[in-house]
Amino acid sequence: SSLYKIDGWGAPYFSVNGSGNMAVRPYGTATLPHQEIDLLKIVKKASDPIRSGGLGLQLPLIVRFPDVLKNRLESLQSAFDHAIQSQGYGSHYQGVFPVKCNQDRFVVEDIVKFGSPFRFGLEAGSKPEILLAMSCLCKGNSDALLVCNGFKDAEYISLALIARKLALNTVVVLEQEEELDLVIDLSKRLFVRPVVGVRAKLRTKHSGHFGSTSGEKGKFGLTTTQILRVVGKLKQHDMLDCLQLLHFHIGSQIPSTTLLADGVGEAAQIYCELVRLGANMRVVDIGGGLGIDYDGSKSPDSGLSVAYGLDEYASMVVDVIRSVCDRRSVKHPILCSESGRAIASHHSVLIFEAVSASTYEVPSMSSIELQYLDGLTDDARVDYQNLSAAACMGEYKTCLLYADQLKQRCIEKFMDGCLGMEQLAAVDGLCALISKAVGELDSVRSYHVNLSIFTSIPDFWGIDQLFPIVPIHRLDQRPSVRGILSDLTCDSDGKIDKFIGGESSLPLHEMEGNGNLSGGGGRYYLGMFLGGAYEEALGGVHNLFGGPSVIRVMQSDGPHSFAVTRTVPGPSSGDILRVMQYEPELMFETLKHRAEEFVQEDDDGCEGIANSLAMSFRNMPYLGSPSSCFSDSDTD
Ligand code: PLP
Repeated sequence: SSLYKIDGWGAPYFSVNGSGNMAVRPYGTATLPHQEIDLLKIVKKASDPIRSGGLGLQLPLIVRFPDVLKNRLESLQSAFDHAIQSQGYGSHYQGVFPVKCNQDRFVVEDIVKFGSPFRFGLEAGSKPEILLAMSCLCKGNSDALLVCNGFKDAEYISLALIARKLALNTVVVLEQEEELDLVIDLSKRLFVRPVVGVRAKLRTKHSGHFGSTSGEKGKFGLTTTQILRVVGKLKQHDMLDCLQLLHFHIGSQIPSTTLLADGVGEAAQIYCELVRLGANMRVVDIGGGLGIDYDGSKSPDSGLSVAYGLDEYASMVVDVIRSVCDRRSVKHPILCSESGRAIASHHSVLIFEAVSASTYEVPSMSSIELQYLDGLTDDARVDYQNLSAAACMGEYKTCLLYADQLKQRCIEKFMDGCLGMEQLAAVDGLCALISKAVGELDSVRSYHVNLSIFTSIPDFWGIDQLFPIVPIHRLDQRPSVRGILSDLTCDSDGKIDKFIGGESSLPLHEMEGNGNLSGGGGRYYLGMFLGGAYEEALGGVHNLFGGPSVIRVMQSDGPHSFAVTRTVPGPSSGDILRVMQYEPELMFETLKHRAEEFVQEDDDGCEGIANSLAMSFRNMPYLGSPSSCFSDSDTD
């Protein structure tokens, strides 16, 4: 476990159990072994055929742990409750979950349900997001906030005003000054008194990876001058009492509490000024940015970790707002945060399979057809002679130089059409042999994984975000290989060759029987952890690979200490084609008619072909097991 730094990034939810498998502790603690869930057992249950008692799901697979989600919410709430109590703060904390982090219906419904006892709400940033937030919050606590951020048009603002009419505690946060005119106009037309917030463009700038939205030149929010104009206009319309919330967001993954304190301090001053100017201020919404530890380093320098935990974060926020408000004799506001990453990241694990590993074929001397080297051009033959002489004298570095020169020269000749494939193959073999003898052969292997990075780990591709990736079993065996992970897409960016801890390869186990699909050797499963926020929401359909299958797993007293409470197979090839406006049913009919026209009626002829085609529309686009390629009895 130390090899993968699991204790650093995984505590208190993930650890290695006595069988050498990754174990999950959904409540963050485990005093008894049965309170740990063995991840490999979950994968087996999910992927075993139905006839063997499994769920017959294809990988990749997202395993969701709602208990982890609940624990994250409760931990954040209790961090604030504790800071509020110990510092004698005069109001309370009620957070919102930014649904953009993970809009999955069951994740959002869980958050509303788990957060209901402490009025936890939702944040929306677009029209479909506000629609889902409105409908989910109907089942929640009526005091829970519905914070409406993002760029808005008349329709979005109308939805937010309708939400208020439906007795949902909705705040329209102005991201642009122009939105105010629409709010004033539409609220009069809809006969509803709006609650308005302003997003301040702070001068405090987060210079890290996720900080481009902050600072004076940031994309979002209102400048001091614009905020003053908003106050003026609201006053003019006799609506200054509607301005009740001040929001800011200095970027995700805020590296230190020092930067947090600067941002919160600046916002607290603006809040107090708004109180002085006569607004009916009630809430400070400090946005997102509460960071998590992806690499276990507890140091902000890597950009993948932060130098604080939930308690330090909450304590700093409460302290700064309390002291600014006390100095200005302003009543302590309700504290709200829009923490997404810190709430959702831990609750889901992406499981995928390595299906084969590249091997470097180093030929033996006897297998190289040396006679072909006689046919080399003169200059190449000189390189070859120099190479042989250096080898005889044991000058290995010189050997490598000549080998490189020989290979380059022969590749050029081959390109010019002056060298045959047999000669090039003999030169390749010779050079590989020399590299091996000199110990310079690149020993990093490529593990081919049944996954699309563009779909499931888009931030790795888009912004170089690293996530902990670990084999979920065999962790009691020392890995003997180092490897990178290549995905299924035909795109050279579809590979993971950077890992936490600054590593360019991952310690991996030799695959048993090469683990390949056709050979049916031992399976080798890997898990990508801490990807429950953003990754599912951002994933694309490059190469038409869709999302993974998803299961929801809760702890139970049963024999495996877990129960699968929801199963959602990943989208089929037909589903993905439909996203691109194709009509799979019509496509199938066209192909079936074609088969009737061209295929001879021998064996099971047309019918067999039609069945295969139908199954390919029904299956997921990922690689299947050998049986699922030829029969659907496993998955139906
Ligand atoms: N609120 C706003 C306005 C955001 O833009 C974001 C994300 O960048 C968040 C909240 C969530 O941030 P985080 O996931 O860092 O908590």
